[in-house]
Amino acid sequence: MPETFALETYARRAFNYLDRMVDADGLPYFNVFWERPAEAAHDWPDYGDVMTRALQGAVMARHMTGRACVNEKRWLAKALGYVDPTTGLLTRPKTTWCAGGADAGDYALTLYALVTVYDDAPDPELAAEIRKMVDAFPTFGKENTGYVAFIIKSLMAAARSLGYAKAAQYAGECVRHVTVDTPIIQEDNTYATGGHMHIFTRGLVGIADYALYVKDPVLFSRVDAAYRYIRTLDPGFGFLPEVVDRQGDVIACETCALMDYVGLGVTLANNGHPEYWGGIERLVRNHMVESQAVDNSWLVSDPVGKDTDQFTHREIGERMVGAYAGWSSPTHFLACKEFLHWGGPELRGKARAFQNCCGGSGTHAYYIAWKHASQFADGVLSVNMHLDKLLPQAEVRCFQPWRGLLTIALKADCGVRVRIPDFARKEGVRVTIAGKETPFSVSGNFLRLAGRKAGERIEVRYPVPVRVEKVTIGNRRAGRSSEGQFRQYSYRVTWKGDTVVRMEPVGRMPKSGYSDFEKSKVELYYGEDGPGRLYRRAHMLADAEPALAELHEDTSPVDYWGTGLRGR
Ligand SMILES: [Zn+2]
Repeated sequence: MPETFALETYARRAFNYLDRMVDADGLPYFNVFWERPAEAAHDWPDYGDVMTRALQGAVMARHMTGRACVNEKRWLAKALGYVDPTTGLLTRPKTTWCAGGADAGDYALTLYALVTVYDDAPDPELAAEIRKMVDAFPTFGKENTGYVAFIIKSLMAAARSLGYAKAAQYAGECVRHVTVDTPIIQEDNTYATGGHMHIFTRGLVGIADYALYVKDPVLFSRVDAAYRYIRTLDPGFGFLPEVVDRQGDVIACETCALMDYVGLGVTLANNGHPEYWGGIERLVRNHMVESQAVDNSWLVSDPVGKDTDQFTHREIGERMVGAYAGWSSPTHFLACKEFLHWGGPELRGKARAFQNCCGGSGTHAYYIAWKHASQFADGVLSVNMHLDKLLPQAEVRCFQPWRGLLTIALKADCGVRVRIPDFARKEGVRVTIAGKETPFSVSGNFLRLAGRKAGERIEVRYPVPVRVEKVTIGNRRAGRSSEGQFRQYSYRVTWKGDTVVRMEPVGRMPKSGYSDFEKSKVELYYGEDGPGRLYRRAHMLADAEPALAELHEDTSPVDYWGTGLRGR
């Protein structure tokens, strides 16, 4: 029985991963290897990266579902336990797999997670820890420009949530560094070949926040231009390369980058660019949810494997359900078979299946979209995306792709705005209230209904067309390999409204290709063969009457993507 599209459904699935994929002490694992049987291994990012992302994701998942991750409190205690009382920095312990010490990446992720915990439940002691962490910012040099960009959003979150001006001042230093001194955004607002998409998008989410904070329209305009550039790298369903124009045949999508892609789009859409909501919805409905692991039968798992200090071999496929793709292709959960090249000999040369930075990031991505799908502010309900959403003031249900219908059960007197889907013509949209056809006004891509009353049921109907398009992905600006031009991959994409219902490889897909990471040929999974086929959605072509998905009311105070709206 099909269900309506609700991000709560996906957040609930994330708990399997968040609850189960830790060691006896609660520490998560960065690496999952595609060995026989599959195994997961601790690595240096586990402390200030994987765990604090998971903590932030767990807080967000709780707001989306009402359910708490069994590790949430333990992760907070562990993160605070790793904070050095003298320096105020999260300091990784020294182990056989971790050199120990503090770095700017851990700093950025831990600070952001702690601010999220604070916004969830303000606590003066935690506020003091956060201020101390902000104060420690000058201990980092600026030689790693990517890290400098990565920190901005975390500092801005601290600046806004705690009203801590010093955090905004430091964010400003970072912004100047990455836009003027050592530009990470090139002069034409593009990103250099080989740039890491998650760093770029996270940097832009932070720069957008800072531009709104200091009211700098030129800076905000540059962020907007960079977002439009990123969209040229997306074939339209939310597949974003992890690395811009790799010098090889591999192109893969990392969930962490999708998280900041959606955060960036939502920040812009909330602040002068409502034309972006349609593209964000297509990202959410398609590659963002396809990036969640549902069927890991391609990972051969040992049901009883014994854990060691560093490794776990037990039920890896089952425990990884609800985690997220680190390197997907348009058709498979993994784009290629590449190997790990860092750490000790116990890690090297093993095939990478998951990178669990994405384990917290995917849930974070869902939260951003869920939080902003529909919003109520200043006596107006805005339905930005046609996703199910339960607010104290309204229950919004959307029946795409099964039917072109959106219903709103109002619980408050208010004005109503509903975005008209990009594929629908406004002449084809019909609105009924209590079964009676009702006229509406249109402003841009939203229809408006003034003076609606609590208790009313509003129905918005529109046709949902099926269309087929051909798209191509690949490393566009890349040069030539020894065998010729780097490969591109084409797909016939069948859309039903804003939902991809078929993803068909076009032509003969190569079984192997050049990896600049491996400096050799690797197996590729861009065709029909490979691990974890995505877009098994042909059943969605038929119309149906979906059951209503289980929703959870949004009363969450955690929000970092409508920032310009505050204090207007
Ligand atoms: Zn990741």
